Amino acid sequence: MQDTEPYSKQTGVDALTPLELPQVDVGVFGGSGFYDLLDDATEYRLTTPFGAPSDVVTVGRIGDRTVAFLPRHGRGHALPPHRINYRANVWAMKMLGVTRLIGPSASGSLQPEVKPGDFVIVDQFVDRTQARADTFFDGSAPEGVPFFEGRGVVHVSAADPYCPELRALAGESCDRLGISAHKSGTSVVIQGPRFSTRAESQWFSRAGWEVVNMTQYPEGFLARELELCYVNIALITDYDAGVDSAQAVTNKEVMDVFAQNLEKLKALLYDLIPRIPRERYCLCGSALSAAEM
Ligand SMILES: [Zn+2]
Repeated sequence: MQDTEPYSKQTGVDALTPLELPQVDVGVFGGSGFYDLLDDATEYRLTTPFGAPSDVVTVGRIGDRTVAFLPRHGRGHALPPHRINYRANVWAMKMLGVTRLIGPSASGSLQPEVKPGDFVIVDQFVDRTQARADTFFDGSAPEGVPFFEGRGVVHVSAADPYCPELRALAGESCDRLGISAHKSGTSVVIQGPRFSTRAESQWFSRAGWEVVNMTQYPEGFLARELELCYVNIALITDYDAGVDSAQAVTNKEVMDVFAQNLEKLKALLYDLIPRIPRERYCLCGSALSAAEM
């Protein structure tokens, strides 16, 4: 375990070379049941201007890439979705120099053809959360952080909130590994911790949306605000309450699918991460240039 110095001006994201921090290529957020990824990793306890991340960040290697892993609920699932400090988690990745972020999440299906065990490479979200700290630009930027200096009111576009490059690469990895995947889909993000009522679930389903989840907002959008590429992979565990599926599923079947999804996800990450080009050709890295008033 390496404890870094408390956050200081020298660790602002425009001066990202404090000696004690490694330079990381790719960040991965772990979701429910997904608490470790890397062997022989070094742990870092980071401090951010937005508070502490959910847990220590582990840094190791996959292929020739340096990868940082952070379980968004904390190890042991200590934090429910509405209590996660999403800003601290995303900022911690930025502090490490991450430009590509992968945020998989266990999700429910809203459509019969999106089956338990399928993966969905989400391209849109619908935000049904409440009162989460969902922007870095709330008019009270932390002082002395170079990233915020000179920036006034900022409205970042969320029209296409996920990185098209990472989405395409993730879809290719699913094909390479024979994982049944939907290459697009809309994720409804509910506040939790309760699940949807049947009426809510049927409403989302009739709107044509594919998956339901509790953590995709604001995590992915906060990454965009920091000009990081972000991709979500929705790991379908079961059908949501209001979806008519062909057969009832038992709790054991749900848990089996959940465990199988995690194994497939790890294989996908080990295939995907080394294939991410070092250069970015998407527009994620200039998201702020058109966003300031
Ligand atoms: Zn991108």
